[in-house]
Amino acid sequence: MNAHAPSDRIYYTKPSISALEIGYANDAVANGWGERCYEYIERFERLFKQHLGVRHAIATSSATGALHMGMAGLGIGPGDEVILADINWIASVVPIVHLGAKPVLVDVLPDSWCIDPAAVEAAITSRTKAILAVHLYGNLCDIDALAAIADRHGLHLIEDAAEAIGSAWHGRRAGSMGAFGAFSFHGTKTITTGEGGLFVTDDDALYERVLTLSNHGRARGETRQFWPERIGFKYKMSNVQAAIGCGQLERIDELIAGKRRVFEGYRTELEGLPLRMNPEPAGTVNGYWMPTIVADAPFDREALIARFKADNIDGRVFFWPLSSLPMFDHQPQHHVSHALARCSLNLPSYHDLTCAQIARVAGHVIKHLGRSPR
Ligand SMILES: *Cc1c(COP(=O)(O)O)cnc(C)c1O
Repeated sequence: MNAHAPSDRIYYTKPSISALEIGYANDAVANGWGERCYEYIERFERLFKQHLGVRHAIATSSATGALHMGMAGLGIGPGDEVILADINWIASVVPIVHLGAKPVLVDVLPDSWCIDPAAVEAAITSRTKAILAVHLYGNLCDIDALAAIADRHGLHLIEDAAEAIGSAWHGRRAGSMGAFGAFSFHGTKTITTGEGGLFVTDDDALYERVLTLSNHGRARGETRQFWPERIGFKYKMSNVQAAIGCGQLERIDELIAGKRRVFEGYRTELEGLPLRMNPEPAGTVNGYWMPTIVADAPFDREALIARFKADNIDGRVFFWPLSSLPMFDHQPQHHVSHALARCSLNLPSYHDLTCAQIARVAGHVIKHLGRSPR
């Protein structure tokens, strides 16, 4: 029998929206038109640049759009290859395909669940143009190793930091270390604008190219009205979305702290079980977007999800290897990716999950993986 009322549902994630975001959004709806129609967008970009420590930012309608425009700005196109990890959300690979380039999938490391630098090196050909480093679930790619490979072979290193708000590699924030970085503010992410994204870079020339692309090919110095100089994109964030984002950015430390508190709660509860969780190697900070358990041995994941469901708790499976989807060539030799997909589960992780709710979720994991509850 279900002991909890329906209102007691534990969502796998949901945004944290306060009076601040509501106030800004109301102001944008009421007043953010005419000459004020870009005010919140410009403020949002400025606040995010400050947070990240980068020179340039362009707010977009999604991370997918930010990746698409950034890769186009780097000149990635037909005949080029881009190397990325096999186990990933589809959004990371889609822009590569839309640009007519070829995604080259490689296996991940068993500890970080992120792209294996040795596998990257082995996959480089004369057509390779870029490495896409996706920081999965807040975990960081080995950026030093990837940057060294990129330098050695003259490749662009791109960061998909959509899941890595709050993560830092030896003092540098995720998303600030590559040729460009992309962020997402979808409703499930650490900070949200409903839907939204951001392109960031320290490269002045790349910024100018992407800015032109982002404005349907109209250069900012162009004096003729409605004069696109090339085919561009329309992936803009609205002022109302940016207003919500400004509220979120003023609270970003609190929101990241909430994610870290939830992770630490699970870690304490699940101590001693035969499983691993998101790593935080020395010198790094993990934003812990999504606390994830990886069992040391295969377990009946569907049964655990069913157990969650019976208690009104959302469970979420780890991403599938992209190579297991019908659009890509099967890569059975990517053993780490395939094993991860079978042995793992994301746990609910919204910022203000209570200790009692964390214990309730953990209790099911403990029963399922075999230790008697404390
Ligand atoms: C969410 C996500 C995206 C896509 O973000 P959108 O804003 O939905 O386009 C891309 N990459 C990663 C790693 C993500 O988690």
